[in-house]
This record gives sequence, C-alpha cells and structure tokens, in this order.
Amino acid sequence: MPSLLEANALMLDPITSAEFCEIRQTPWAGRGMFAKKTIPASTVVLQSPEPIAYVILQPYRHEACDWCFAYDNGTRWPISYDVEDKKGKRGVAWFSSDECCDMWQERMGALGIEAWIALDQAMTTYRRARSKEKTTQPFLPPTTINKSLPIESEVEAIWSACADTANVILAARLVDEPSKAQRRLLREAQKLALSFIDEDDAFLLLSGVLSLERAGPFDQTLSEPAPPTWQALLELQPSVSLYLKNDSPIVRHVAAIHLLLCILPLPLLPYCTALNALRLFTRDACNSFGIRSQTHGSESEFLGYGVWPSASYFNHSCAPNLVKLSPGREWVFETSREILPDEELRISYLGDLAPHEMDVEERRKQLKLTWGFDCDCPLCLAQLQIK
Ligand SMILES: [Zn+2]
Ligand SMILES: [Zn+2]
Repeated sequence: MPSLLEANALMLDPITSAEFCEIRQTPWAGRGMFAKKTIPASTVVLQSPEPIAYVILQPYRHEACDWCFAYDNGTRWPISYDVEDKKGKRGVAWFSSDECCDMWQERMGALGIEAWIALDQAMTTYRRARSKEKTTQPFLPPTTINKSLPIESEVEAIWSACADTANVILAARLVDEPSKAQRRLLREAQKLALSFIDEDDAFLLLSGVLSLERAGPFDQTLSEPAPPTWQALLELQPSVSLYLKNDSPIVRHVAAIHLLLCILPLPLLPYCTALNALRLFTRDACNSFGIRSQTHGSESEFLGYGVWPSASYFNHSCAPNLVKLSPGREWVFETSREILPDEELRISYLGDLAPHEMDVEERRKQLKLTWGFDCDCPLCLAQLQIK
C-alpha cells in the first residue's frame, strides 16, 4: 500500500481548458488558475464537464434530478427508473424529465445500472431491517472508543487493514464456487459494513468507481500515460486531514469499500480497491463542490456534492472575478469583469452566501470552518486593516 501522502507523486501535464488561462504554482494556495492575456468581462473561461464522482444526499434523492440536479422546492420528481423485485415495482433513481432519465441510463450503461440497483437494494434492505430494530445505535469499532484524535500512523494502519480485508473479500467474490467459509465471510463482511455505512459515502464511491471503469484500467507502476479521467483525479491535491478529526469518517469509508466489494458486479471489482477509494475520498475532501438548489440566498438547499476536477484549480476570493453559471451536471465559469494578464482567476467558496453582504469576520470564520484556511484575499486584507 503506497503512503497516504502520495500527493502529486504523479505529476502530469496540468489540464488547461481554455486559450485564456493556465495553471500555475502560487506561493499562497498550491496551484491556481491565471489569465494568460486580457480576458473581457462575460467570457466563458471554463466549461467543466460532468463530475468524476458525485452524490445526491439520501434525503433529496426523490427531489433532485439524478441527471441535471434540478430541484423544485422539495417536489418529488415524477419520473423514476424502476426495478421489479419480490416486493413489487420501486424507483431507484428520480428525474426531472424523460430526457434526463434517458441520458442517465445511457451514461450509466448496463453495468452501471446493475451496480446502482445492487447498492440501492442493499441499502433498502438494510433500512427496512433497521426500522424493525429497537436500537439504532451502531456497534462502535475499537478505534473510535476512548480516543481523542486519530493520528496519521493509525489512519495508515486502518487503511492497510482495510486493503487486506478487501483482498479477502475479492478472493471470495472471484472464485467460481465459493466455499462455505467464503460464503459466510461475504455475508458477515456485508453485515458488518452495513452497520457502519453512510449511504452517501457509498453512492459517492460508486459514482467514482464507475468513472474509473469507464476510463479503463490504469496501473501507476507501469510507465504508460494515465487515461484523462485518472489523470484529472490524480492531479488533484489529496488531503488526509479529514481522517484526523474527532468525527473521522474513516470507518464509514472502509465500510463503503467493503460493502461495494461484496455486492458490485464482477467487472467493477478491479476498480473498487482500497487505494482507489482512498484516492477518491481524500481528493473529495478538499476539492468537492456543493450541489445546491438554484434558489439563491439562505434558503438554498445543500442537495449533494461532487468533484469537478478542472474547476478545482480556482482558488477562493471574497471578491471573486468569476461566476458559475447554469448549475447542473456541466458547470460553466464566466468572468464577472475584465481580467488583466497574470491576474489569478478566483471563485467564491462561500456557496450561495454573498461575500459582499457578509462581515469580514463572519466570512473568514465560515471559510476556516468549511475549508480550513484563513482567508487573506484582497478584500479581507483591506477590510481587516480598516477595523
Ligand atoms: Zn433533470
Ligand atoms: Zn476573503
């Protein structure tokens, strides 16, 4: 298992997506996107195609279109992709239109849909069983008991153990006729995974695994060029800091990998490795964008999140010079004013909060809380000086 901090072990050509800008190193925030020449106002500088991994949060699965992410004030979308099982017909994905449903099916393909149904089935069965139980308290793993904060070596040890278990599950899945012990192991592994699972983590991981499978195999130890999807993912800055917190999601993430290994169709298993999951989760942690309802202001709903790799190179500013247009599967970034050569292109990480309507302390507190940095953008510096 490579080190958790495989950060940029693979330095490939940066993804430049427009004639106007390029990725450069900054002394303040890793990499950033810079103007190569004067860019007029209202110029589209980036069209970020669909996310590499995304999830619509469980409470919104009926209300946010699984293709275009449209949301209509909590109304349940009437179009669903249905499956028939012993308990009758049920929807497993919901859409704002027939076209969205068609496009989703086309993108997912037969294998993706089979995987999606398998995960939905596992979660539905689990929820039904849980609702009959008297207690909803999950069994706590030893690593989370009597501990203040996990440290990096413990996180490495957990991931290493996760990979070992993943190999045992994989071996049991891959044999033509699993032994009695292997069948029991698969049952137990699935049961244990389900008791720690977070459904949203599992769907996020599934969407990432499907993206990698669509991109085709890639072995980093061979010196062959990475397919674009892999390249886009591996170029993103990973961060293990999410695992070093009190509410460390590490056990949930391990559970998601083990569950998917137990239930996914066989052709997807080579992509559902502990290493790939670690790559996805640690990049999601600091590169994901919220999927929000399109009503602006404080009433906007946080419907889910996803990783749009090319959009991740934009750093934050409380006085951004870019705006994001047409929220949906494909994101478009446009200049909000004229931008001069060598100026950094920046967006606001404050979601739907309008930075100029917030107090400087309030903004910086919010950014520190959500993203873990002290904002020293030109607006913050100017306002702090006045105070
Ligand atoms: Zn739609
Ligand atoms: Zn700021």
